[in-house]
Amino acid sequence: MGRPVQYNTKIKIVKMPDGYTGEGFFATSFDKVVGLARANSLWPLPFATSCCGIEFMATMGSHYDLGRFGAERMGFTPRQCDMLLVAGTIAKKMAPILRQVYLQMAEPRWVIAIGACASTGGIFDSYPVLQGIDQVIPVDVYVPGCPPRPEGIIDGILKLQDLVHNESLRRRGSEQYKGLLESYNIQ
Ligand code: SF4
Repeated sequence: MGRPVQYNTKIKIVKMPDGYTGEGFFATSFDKVVGLARANSLWPLPFATSCCGIEFMATMGSHYDLGRFGAERMGFTPRQCDMLLVAGTIAKKMAPILRQVYLQMAEPRWVIAIGACASTGGIFDSYPVLQGIDQVIPVDVYVPGCPPRPEGIIDGILKLQDLVHNESLRRRGSEQYKGLLESYNIQ
């Protein structure tokens, strides 16, 4: 006999952006609507090379279920993703490939460094290991731990959601942002 179908009856609706409400209308700014949509529909691109990747797999699994935050649609093509999750040790030989993946993502794109290795090289303070992915690409959120537990990864994604939610639509065209990319030799 098949198992009874279980429906999720605890659906949580995201908070409405600030605005003006009246009889039959709600008005807010375009920035806020776009921020709300972007923050709750992040498409992850996992770049997992070692142990932290296993924690990420657990984060995607049914117990932790990243789908609760609108980020269950994993993509394995950079062109369809906007959240790059780097989990694991990155060898210097791999750095140009990571950078290439980043460059293939369309703007707006965000990056999370998951765990000590991706953030700083971790315990591998040695010549073949990149001492932090921010040496080759800009990073938005760092998740500490060796490895971070799935709760830590979820916390990092929530922090990124907060950042995305409040990001100005003008940021990507600003001189500061262009300057940031130029500091990485990215046009
Ligand atoms: S931070 Fe620790 S758990 Fe994560 S990839 Fe490095 S050694 Fe492995």
